[in-house]
Amino acid sequence: VTKNPQQPEVNIGLVGHVDHGKTTLVQALSGSWTDQHSEEMKRGISIRLGYADATFRQIPGADAPECYTVEEETEDGEETDVLRTVSFVDAPGHETLMATMLSGAAIMDGAILLVSATEDVPQAQTAEHLMALDIIGIENIVIAQNKVDLVDRERALDNYEQIKEFVEGTVAEDAPIVPISAQQEVNLDLLIEAIEEEIPTPDRDETEDSRMFVARSFDINRPGTTWEGLSGGVIGGSVVAGKLDEGDELELRPGREVDEEGQTEWRSITTEVRSLQAGGNMVDEVRPGGLCGVGTGLDPSFTKGDALAGQVAGEPGTLPPTREQFTMDVELLDRVVGGEEDEGIDEISTGEPLMLTVGTATTVGAVTSARSGEAEVSLKRPVCAAEGAKIAINRRVGARWRLIGIGTLK
Ligand code: GDP
Ligand code: MG
Repeated sequence: VTKNPQQPEVNIGLVGHVDHGKTTLVQALSGSWTDQHSEEMKRGISIRLGYADATFRQIPGADAPECYTVEEETEDGEETDVLRTVSFVDAPGHETLMATMLSGAAIMDGAILLVSATEDVPQAQTAEHLMALDIIGIENIVIAQNKVDLVDRERALDNYEQIKEFVEGTVAEDAPIVPISAQQEVNLDLLIEAIEEEIPTPDRDETEDSRMFVARSFDINRPGTTWEGLSGGVIGGSVVAGKLDEGDELELRPGREVDEEGQTEWRSITTEVRSLQAGGNMVDEVRPGGLCGVGTGLDPSFTKGDALAGQVAGEPGTLPPTREQFTMDVELLDRVVGGEEDEGIDEISTGEPLMLTVGTATTVGAVTSARSGEAEVSLKRPVCAAEGAKIAINRRVGARWRLIGIGTLK
């Protein structure tokens, strides 16, 4: 893991169509490959949200944009100055994995929309991801026109015009478009400059109750480790409010399902913060922003294989309620985005299954009652969410789930 000189302070999503170069760009900026897991390697796509941090730096005395770099030293051996450390949330581009992108969107402060210059604009997930940014309310966007090494000037300009036309009237209308080659590391200085300008670190309040959205969870023990040598379960995600200190008590909701005399019930889990990792370093405290890993006292079998992804962690007694059903105000999109041809969207009907993304949680729910502009759902897996939480609503259309609207928890 790359060590960064300071904690990451902002989360930047990488979104866009599969193969347009998201993972390659993250690697070029951070030196770490986010597709770390063998299954992801095999399939060659980022199945789960990938993690990587990068530190943006500046060459003292140099002019913009040439001064921007991720290198610790210039070619002449001169040390560069640290600007800030950022975390990248590398969302997958594969079409069935929209839910993962939406879970990532919950912790993004801004996003880089990658568009390959070698294909017409928009490709399916380019449109779908931009729509998702729009409805989730992520407004700080930089567009990277990637793979410019593969096209001639005329093609690049045509493609640029297509991008311009495509983003007109969307949240990305005024976003800068930076031509780059992630693979050949061309114009990364211009890209960093655009990110520094467009995606500022948000103001956050460290004195609030701590709140962490869990995006992943792991068992870091090697198979066959004896119990004396076992490390507790690890959760990864982003602290969005307050801060976490080593030794803090931590509650996780919804927690886990316990079965007692044939009755099943979800109970929150309480544990403690045993270790903290941010920016590739072990730290004593994690301030809000950026991605972090938290070593807990939990039995690692609880955290294995992302079992706790989608949960919310924080100081015991301060978390929002766990909900097995809820009512939401519904705002449907005008049309289904990203399909071969755009289709209209029917009202939500009683009995239909919906896939809902709330924070970093994705769950399937059945609609128990639907009125115009409002729906009541009963969930297969409960979520921990506060009143007013935004919910991405997906409906099964043909073989896949499609984003059809946005809900607000009542
Ligand atoms: P993702 O699905 O968006 O994460 O895309 P990847 O980063 O996995 O890239 C897909 C393919 O495009 C890989 O074979 C990369 O090596 C290649 N690629 C990415 N960026 C560039 C680029 O700027 N130029 C060229 N020539 N190839 C690139
Ligand atoms: Mg990828």
